[in-house]
Amino acid sequence: MTTNPTLLDALRQAVGATHVLTEGDLTAYERDWRGRAHGRALAVVQPASTAEVAAVVRACAAHGTSIIPQGGNTSLSVGAVPDENGRQLVLSLKRMDRVRAIDGANLTLTVEAGCILQNVQAAAEGAGFLFPLSLAAEGSCTIGGNLGTNAGGTQVVRYGNTRELCLGLEVVTAQGEIWDGLTGLRKDNTGYDLRDLFIGSEGTLGVITAATMKLYPRPAAQLTAWAAVPSMQAAVDLLGLAHQRLGPGLTGFEVMGQFALGLVDKHFPQLRVPLWREAPYCVLLENSDHEGEAHARAQFESLLEMALEAGCVSDAVVAESIAQARGLWHIRESISLAQAEEGLNIKHDISVPIARIPAFCEETDALLAREIAGVRLVNFGHLGDGNLHYNVQAPEGVDPRAFLRDEEKRINTLVFDAVARHGGSISAEHGIGSLKVHELPRYKSPVALDLMRAIKGALDPQGIMNPGRVLVD
Ligand code: FAD
Repeated sequence: MTTNPTLLDALRQAVGATHVLTEGDLTAYERDWRGRAHGRALAVVQPASTAEVAAVVRACAAHGTSIIPQGGNTSLSVGAVPDENGRQLVLSLKRMDRVRAIDGANLTLTVEAGCILQNVQAAAEGAGFLFPLSLAAEGSCTIGGNLGTNAGGTQVVRYGNTRELCLGLEVVTAQGEIWDGLTGLRKDNTGYDLRDLFIGSEGTLGVITAATMKLYPRPAAQLTAWAAVPSMQAAVDLLGLAHQRLGPGLTGFEVMGQFALGLVDKHFPQLRVPLWREAPYCVLLENSDHEGEAHARAQFESLLEMALEAGCVSDAVVAESIAQARGLWHIRESISLAQAEEGLNIKHDISVPIARIPAFCEETDALLAREIAGVRLVNFGHLGDGNLHYNVQAPEGVDPRAFLRDEEKRINTLVFDAVARHGGSISAEHGIGSLKVHELPRYKSPVALDLMRAIKGALDPQGIMNPGRVLVD
């Protein structure tokens, strides 16, 4: 690539020539995880320190070159790949993967942005603690990407989103300055919360280079149960009972529709999905207990008995071993892959107030069935957080690519309008990226959008940070 030799020279000087990639196969950085976009980068730059990130950003700012911060590139909203013009720089944080410190007294861990989530969990475990953020992409996604998207995952019902797990950030601003906010303080009321501005900003305001995250004591026992439920309303009733009976022990509550589980059964029959044929939904529950396994099991059994009596569960199993529990979680986490095996689909990552989820599903299922003959709904997600992956698969025999091309816009409007009618959000976890950037103005208030534009203009006046994501002019 010779389009910008002066910038490339400055980048090579900043990070070393071997860490400025311009040739060879750059697909891993240029194509998004779902294969929905394949851009072309001016270069992929891989700094190894915060000072190197700052030098890269300063060089880009001087040349007016756009920067796409990238972690594991597992974004589901096309948020971390360059566009097709070959003039945007991919800033990969993958080499910044050190755990800088673990502070047992403060229950915190300070880690660099490119650290893979699974390695953060392992570092916490090695020190005798729990880092509870957990999602199916944890073997590839990075803590910087988790913060950039304010990722959720399977433990939010107890521990909150990534935002709730973060006490401090180190950020390189769009001007190439370094803000060190890694105090780890649990109380600090000295003005605007800069940390919360950067979390969830999808790389549009600055580059997160490190973070101080909360740790928790490891539970003495963790039990998993799988329950068949006769309706979505029954699943919501079961959630209420589980909150009452398990209190803070309830660390996971996932719902899975019959068609979603049928796809797992079809594409991964070796996983042996339990109970899926006998009910429209199954629920996966996790109970984390600080007393021990016997206590956890007794609590779970009493909850399930009560639920069976109340009619909100028709059948249930409690995992007898860690291997069985992992197997149940593996089934839940295989739904996305099973969907991918079935073909491209239209993904919706929505949230609705929990009490309104049954009405939302009933109304929207019927609406889509009326509008699109034979439509197939892959409905599953984090019911404990009011968050559903309400995905729409092409009717049997219809080419998925043609379905997306012809129907995506219309289906998005049908689903998002229903979400809005029920007081929900069009993106609960995956973020706006470029996939939903043109939808946002229809669902976000003009006042909120103006405030967001003012923040973007103040922090990134040149508009070089991940342009075209979250906000468009
Ligand atoms: P990337 O994809 O590289 O980037 C994501 C966004 O963050 C981009 O806008 C990027 O510019 C920005 N970014 C990345 N690094 C930085 C940085 N250092 N500073 C500033 N901005 C940065 N998400 C959930 O929330 N919950 C789930 O349960 C979940 N399950 C998933 C399951 C699968 C199988 C897959 C493939 C994805 C899933 N995701 C889920 C989506 C995805 O894994 C998350 O969004 C994750 O947080 C992205 O991390 P990443 O390192 O891959 O970020």
